Amino acid sequence: MFLIRRQLATKTQSACSGANIAGVTLNLCHKRLSSSSFHTAAGKTMKRLDGKVAIVTASTEGIGFAIAKRLAEDGAAVVISSRKERNVENAVERLRKLNLNVTGLKCHVGESQDRKRLFEETIRAYGKLNILVSNAATNPAVGGVLECDESVWDKIFDINVKSSYLLAKEALPYLRQAKDSSIVFVSSIAGYDAFDLLGAYSVSKTALIGLTKAASKELASEGIRVNCLAPGIIKTKFSKALYESESANEAAMSKIPMGRLGTPEEMAGIVSFLVSDDASYITGESIIASGGMSGRL
Ligand code: NAP
Repeated sequence: MFLIRRQLATKTQSACSGANIAGVTLNLCHKRLSSSSFHTAAGKTMKRLDGKVAIVTASTEGIGFAIAKRLAEDGAAVVISSRKERNVENAVERLRKLNLNVTGLKCHVGESQDRKRLFEETIRAYGKLNILVSNAATNPAVGGVLECDESVWDKIFDINVKSSYLLAKEALPYLRQAKDSSIVFVSSIAGYDAFDLLGAYSVSKTALIGLTKAASKELASEGIRVNCLAPGIIKTKFSKALYESESANEAAMSKIPMGRLGTPEEMAGIVSFLVSDDASYITGESIIASGGMSGRL
């Protein structure tokens, strides 16, 4: 007989129940915790990402920062990166002040030397890699898809799509060596239903949903899972134009059934779930987190 005691993060206060299923006694305790954790049979408290090593790109602010913070809170060692050294230093300092196990370095995802160093430094610091979160994106110009200059199109596809594919490809040798490894691409609700003024950007985000499906099929038999997060409108610097002015905010709110913008922290929890063993049978999926905005491919 196994005694399994799990503490699961919920929004309510402590409530425990016991159940006997096919001779296995389960004691399920639901308790509010800042991150998901559980007790082993030996009574040791474990966090759900304990022992895992994660790279999160574009993680010095916004959604990437919140993902890095959450993965570290859930027990992972996390490598922070973005284009600017100073931003990396600030982000690492903020997270270390919270006693989180993070390190960081400059990595512009479009620079092959930077990506190479990102993997080398991760292995040097932590000896392995279990989790890749590809989060960087750019949108240098607004406008409809067929108004887009070729140079802008190339930039968007280089950063948003090609860098994500290259990061995944370059991470593979390490992910193959580690057990229970996974990749998460950060797409967008705009990838399902193109935003009027974000034509080329929207198409690039659709491509990431395709990349998720294609890569997940190739890697499923090796136990490497590939999933995708598609945020709605989240309050960050990147989306400022969609909520800063009164008229833009009104237009955004009219599209969101829940009547509010999302937060980076709400995106982070989903990624933490997707890379955890709680999602061990999920691959090739994209989770839309958009306050009810819908889209379909
Ligand atoms: P954000 O708050 O503006 O943060 C952007 C982060 O990316 C910063 O840390 C920035 O740091 C870094 N960065 C930018 N270009 C980079 C590059 N080429 N290489 C490496 N790092 C880079 O943006 P966000 O809103 O969190 O967006 C993150 C992801 O979510 C993007 O993929 C975006 O498309 C997606 N998304 C956002 C929303 C939204 O409403 N906010 C909605 C759907 C999807 P440095 O300046 O130091 O490089």
